[in-house]
Amino acid sequence: MTGPVLSFLGETHCELGPAADASGHPWRHGEADGIHWLVLDCEGSSVNTVSEQVLTGLDAALDQIGTPRALVIRSAKPAGFAAGADIDSFNDMRDQGAAALLQQGHAVLDRLEALDCPTIAIVHGAALGAGFEIALACDHRIAIDGAKFGFPEVNLGLHPGLGGSFRLTRLIDPTEAMTLMLTGKSAHTAKAERLGIVDAVTEERHVAAAVAAIAEGENDRPEPGLKSRAFRIEAARSYAAGRMRSETEKKAPRAHYPAPYALIDIWEKYGDDRDRMQKAEIESFADLLDSETSRNLRRVFFLRQRLKAETRGADGISHVHVIGAGAMGAEIAAWAAIQGKQVTLGDVKLAPLGQAVKAAAQTCRDKHLSSGETRDALDRLMPDPRGYGLARADLVIEAAPEDADLKSGIYREVGKKLKDGAILASNTSSLRLETLKDGVADPTRFAGLHFFNPVSRMQLVEVVRLETTDDAVLRRLAAFCGAIDRLPVRVADAPGFLVNRALTPYLMEAMVLMDEGIDKEVIDRAALDFGMPMGPVALADQVGLDIGLHVATSLSEALDKPMPPISQRLRDKVEAGETGKKAGKGFYDWSDGTPHPQAEDAPPEDLTDRLILPMLDACVACLRKGVARSADEVDGAMIFATGFAPFRGGPMHYARTRGHAEIADRLDTLAERHGPRFAADRGWREM
Ligand code: NAD
Repeated sequence: MTGPVLSFLGETHCELGPAADASGHPWRHGEADGIHWLVLDCEGSSVNTVSEQVLTGLDAALDQIGTPRALVIRSAKPAGFAAGADIDSFNDMRDQGAAALLQQGHAVLDRLEALDCPTIAIVHGAALGAGFEIALACDHRIAIDGAKFGFPEVNLGLHPGLGGSFRLTRLIDPTEAMTLMLTGKSAHTAKAERLGIVDAVTEERHVAAAVAAIAEGENDRPEPGLKSRAFRIEAARSYAAGRMRSETEKKAPRAHYPAPYALIDIWEKYGDDRDRMQKAEIESFADLLDSETSRNLRRVFFLRQRLKAETRGADGISHVHVIGAGAMGAEIAAWAAIQGKQVTLGDVKLAPLGQAVKAAAQTCRDKHLSSGETRDALDRLMPDPRGYGLARADLVIEAAPEDADLKSGIYREVGKKLKDGAILASNTSSLRLETLKDGVADPTRFAGLHFFNPVSRMQLVEVVRLETTDDAVLRRLAAFCGAIDRLPVRVADAPGFLVNRALTPYLMEAMVLMDEGIDKEVIDRAALDFGMPMGPVALADQVGLDIGLHVATSLSEALDKPMPPISQRLRDKVEAGETGKKAGKGFYDWSDGTPHPQAEDAPPEDLTDRLILPMLDACVACLRKGVARSADEVDGAMIFATGFAPFRGGPMHYARTRGHAEIADRLDTLAERHGPRFAADRGWREM
């Protein structure tokens, strides 16, 4: 055997131990100085995911290691250790009997855990889900700076299923372990070290020495701390479990998201009994895998992949010029600069430019950027009151006030300055691009790029095509969204495009309900109980009542189908300057932060349908008219732009589950009771 070699993997140099035998995919073997190296290298992918093949491969690999002084497990992928389980395989797993498959996986990790020699996981990049569970089955974990550890399973309606629940709660403070599993958040290197997840943090060049030290017995396996021992008492666990349940209820109600509660129950009952906890974890994971919530959340994962797939290819955009440094322009400019684009930002006034730079620094802080990253991002963001950047920009995003004449005037002006091949995109939310086109010098390179507020949190961007827009331009805009870590959805130029067309009836109906004398808390509570992240009244406040009024007015004028009548209360609020969150007051008082509506009364029987079904109806109309391309894209767009109850899998999926005919009938009944705005779109009967 040769001595340790340094392998060069793209930009990352990973100490992979002795020259590895590449034949044994997915695990490669190598041995030197009595230390055996198992290197995970899943074929045909830039990241490792933990599949049945990885686990059976590990089992076979353990047959071959003999009796080494130490066993090292690490990844050959520059991207990281392992990104978790192969989500594609979850459906097959369900069909083949998940519990039995999980037991086999557990047996392999138990075997790894029981080896006589010290076992060491070397982790660079992400060790998530089942990847983290493999690392936990080792005696020691050494992190390379930048490593992160986490259990994102709750986001898929699951909890750890390969021993994470009992291994992590025994390794570190159980309340910290449960928090990681219940929130799905990752612990980055420093935190992982502080929590005791890793024994040491080192640089790649010291990995071999760190391994040798452990093999020499210089690093004992850490003993469980005091807190860990305290939680062996059931009363202590019950008390902590009660608090975990009430914290979790605020973010993920039990009725919609069973997984975290199942995990809390398991820990509360069996936290002092490893074997029973293992058995309970397997049974619970298998049950959850079959739950509707998990199936729908896995669907959301694939919807995201689907939207992401549209971002493939080069955007050819290195310089972005943003026109208008108001609420949206400032955010778009900051976000693009943070994501690595060179950005110039223009405005007719100087004050918004100064505020935009301040706000960008705040976004950097909110996103936990290091001081170096913040400095680089702010260096890339140039206030540009004279518009010098226009002539250099590959993409110009106009985010000036919502006024058709003003926007057309701007296009006429900038058209003369744009360089060849530059794209002009409008962030308008309610104007038809068709009506703005007149001022545009080259309509083949004009499109919509509709961001949502706040840009740093809302992942979706509508890429709006006019009949004249060149397809290559749309592809570049979609790729640009990918380059700045947003998800594009292609839509046609129609009133409200897709998202505002669907969301506005929901917001406006809430105001009609208030006019009928129903408490705003009752309305918002009903929407929250359905699974929306925020009730429509609070959401209208958050969006800005002035903006909502503007969009509702223009949609009411543009659509054939009647919209809910615009409430006088809304007009009065806007008139009085009580425009919602940004003014500190709208329908709610925001001075103490986001309102949490508590309703005393039960909502009227048809209230939830009055809110939700018109949104679904608008989605169906958009599909029928070709505004959106597919039901899946509609679902992805509504989830990633509005937070539409993810555990329901999206509005169109919810409609399918409930039954298209049933919904169409219900809409027609509502139309008889409350007016023609509820009449079912003919698309329902054609599906
Ligand atoms: P805003 O009023 O906050 O900002 C507009 C900015 O444009 C102001 O700073 C103003 O000084 C500047 N401006 C005015 N005339 C200009 C000109 N000729 N050249 C350059 N700058 C000029 O508006 P906003 O809320 O940021 O909205 C901007 C656009 O984004 C609108 O089309 C709006 O419909 C759309 N939009 C807004 C939201 C939202 O929630 N605010 C969401 C999505 C899309």
